[in-house]
Amino acid sequence: MPESLEIAVESFDKSFTQQEPIPEVGIARAIEIMRGGRLHRYNVNQGETSETTTLENKFANYLGVDYCLACASGGYAMLTALRAFGLWAGESVLTNALTLSPVPGAIHAAGGKAVLVETTDQLVLDLDDLHRKLGETSSRLLLISHMRGHIVDMDALLTILDRHGASLIEDCAHTMGAFWGGRPSGTFGIAACFSTQTYKHINSGEGGFLTSNDRDLMARAVILSGSYMLYDQHTAGPAPEAYADIRLDTPNCSGRMDNLRAAILLPQLSCLDDRVCRWNERYHAIESELGNVDGLKMPLRPPQEQFVGSSIQFLVPGISTSQANALLATCKKRGVDLKWFGAVEPRGYTSHYSSWRYLSTQTLPQTDRVLHGLFDMRIPLTFSIDDCHLVGRIIRESFNVSLSL
Ligand SMILES: *Cc1c(COP(=O)(O)O)cnc(C)c1O
Repeated sequence: MPESLEIAVESFDKSFTQQEPIPEVGIARAIEIMRGGRLHRYNVNQGETSETTTLENKFANYLGVDYCLACASGGYAMLTALRAFGLWAGESVLTNALTLSPVPGAIHAAGGKAVLVETTDQLVLDLDDLHRKLGETSSRLLLISHMRGHIVDMDALLTILDRHGASLIEDCAHTMGAFWGGRPSGTFGIAACFSTQTYKHINSGEGGFLTSNDRDLMARAVILSGSYMLYDQHTAGPAPEAYADIRLDTPNCSGRMDNLRAAILLPQLSCLDDRVCRWNERYHAIESELGNVDGLKMPLRPPQEQFVGSSIQFLVPGISTSQANALLATCKKRGVDLKWFGAVEPRGYTSHYSSWRYLSTQTLPQTDRVLHGLFDMRIPLTFSIDDCHLVGRIIRESFNVSLSL
């Protein structure tokens, strides 16, 4: 074919796993801490506040809550929240069928039994199924995962939980910086858990926060996290009297954050709101390319939901396995890293609830249908707005080719 007749096909060559650098002030402070040798959160001179304690206070203040505990991971924060809540051995905990494996894993590790709740086409918890299962199980607790930043109608959710006398713990791994009806995600339940793992909204490699306004829950959580008898250093925790009754009855299950991680997180917290704006610009750029494609559905985002577009999802109801694989392959060839939740074998971060075989066997036909048509993509902030338009065009064109197969 003569060169002039070849159709120019755009492709993309940036990495979907490339994060932004740690702010220089954070790096400088981390180096200073390393030179000083005081990396452990309780290793402070008389009268000094550790970097970890400073970070906890800053995050509690950011969220507008009374207490914050920094920990080793988001998964550890969930496990600790469940233990500090006082979960009984073998007790049912309701959670989303559409989430990632650290969530059922934390319930399992805390000795609970995860009972999965159906997913709607808008990728949130199905409140009718929740209502039904709260009745069937008499469960005291919902661990909700705001999966991929999709927030369920929180007002309706609280009404249902209230009716059943059940409590709420929020997994905010994907909603740090998000709101529902003007209220920060993570302030709706008895506790909330955040992750600062590399792919979340602030990056310390590993790390997490547990937040709460509940004095007794937080006192137990601080002791659980490995505070020894140094809990009075937790100025973002309850006052020392709160520990009087529980300090010798609560086991130490170490999972603390250290000062190095805190040092690199502090300046990132200051630019979180700016990151949220930049993520949403990128989300909307991709969305604008996918908005009017026949057969491809973007989940609706209700006006009360102020989300963080750090990833994007779309649904192709009724897509066949071979069409889905063709779409993934066509995108991949042009440099776009799409994930599909319908794959039989768990791959990367995406997994189907049936691959959590340590849970009792559960069938969720509605979630199965939704997952089969669900595609997902991370949006690194290292992509420009033009990059995002290009990525969106590549998905659209690949979609049109693959669905005609
Ligand atoms: C990342 C993540 C967590 C916590 O993960 P860690 O790696 O333990 O910090 C929890 N829930 C969801 C949905 C996540 O994506």
